[in-house]
Amino acid sequence: MSIIVKEIKVKKALSKSGLPEYDYALNPYLGCQHGCIYCYARDFTKGEPAIKWGEVVYVKVNLIEVLSSEVKGLRRGVVGLSTITDPYQPIESKYRLSRRALSLLCDSGFHVSVQTKSALVIRDIDVLKQCGEMADVGLTITTMSDSYKLIEPNTPPPLVRAMTIRKLAKAGVKTWIFLGPIIPGINDSRLNYEPIIRLAKETNSQLIIDRFRPRETAVRLMRTKLNINPVPTNNWWRRVVGELTQLCDSYGVNCITEEDEWRSRRRNNSILDYLK
Ligand code: SF4
Repeated sequence: MSIIVKEIKVKKALSKSGLPEYDYALNPYLGCQHGCIYCYARDFTKGEPAIKWGEVVYVKVNLIEVLSSEVKGLRRGVVGLSTITDPYQPIESKYRLSRRALSLLCDSGFHVSVQTKSALVIRDIDVLKQCGEMADVGLTITTMSDSYKLIEPNTPPPLVRAMTIRKLAKAGVKTWIFLGPIIPGINDSRLNYEPIIRLAKETNSQLIIDRFRPRETAVRLMRTKLNINPVPTNNWWRRVVGELTQLCDSYGVNCITEEDEWRSRRRNNSILDYLK
């Protein structure tokens, strides 16, 4: 898919994260080429990249310059890279903002938690190894089947993501898998979860699971593009969590829900301690 790229300058690099698991969020891009149907990030993005989600991406070309002066005066903590975009979407191969930010943040004493669907993160294994315990990488894998094309039409295939996490784990990078969102009728079967749990076992990755949370745009796109109207009830979620927990236990995989993760990190005085 062709993409319109616009370069912009920003005054701030890090923002306070709205997610309890992070202290800061770093989003080098506004908009995301991956254009997932269920994406919540577009609801937290303003202007053209939100309206033309998946078609327009703004690049914060002065990000590293701003970040390097910003970090000098900030309390150390955990940075989510990224929270409303994929930091390793294809244009990162040209701009290398995520790579440079990762290196700068680790060198400055910040822990960086990367989340992506892209194999491009492998390019930065050298930086991740230098970061050591100050970095972790999560790959989002919602399914290992071809049904991913319905909900994540412009992303790398799940087999590529699996290869990515294997390479990272082999290099000694701390890895995790985000199995979410789990959407009723799309990826909520044992057939769907089991290969992902096996991958988590193989790569010694924690598995974080999360349910689909209906938001207006995502629901509308599912209705118009997929002709479905998923309703994630509490009973449905209890059934899914029960099945997943049982499977994770049988494989010996550390498996938690997104809510568990928030609670667990809140209980700890230091998020950095939790990540160790
Ligand atoms: S990769 Fe993430 S940020 Fe990008 S469209 Fe998909 S869900 Fe949204």
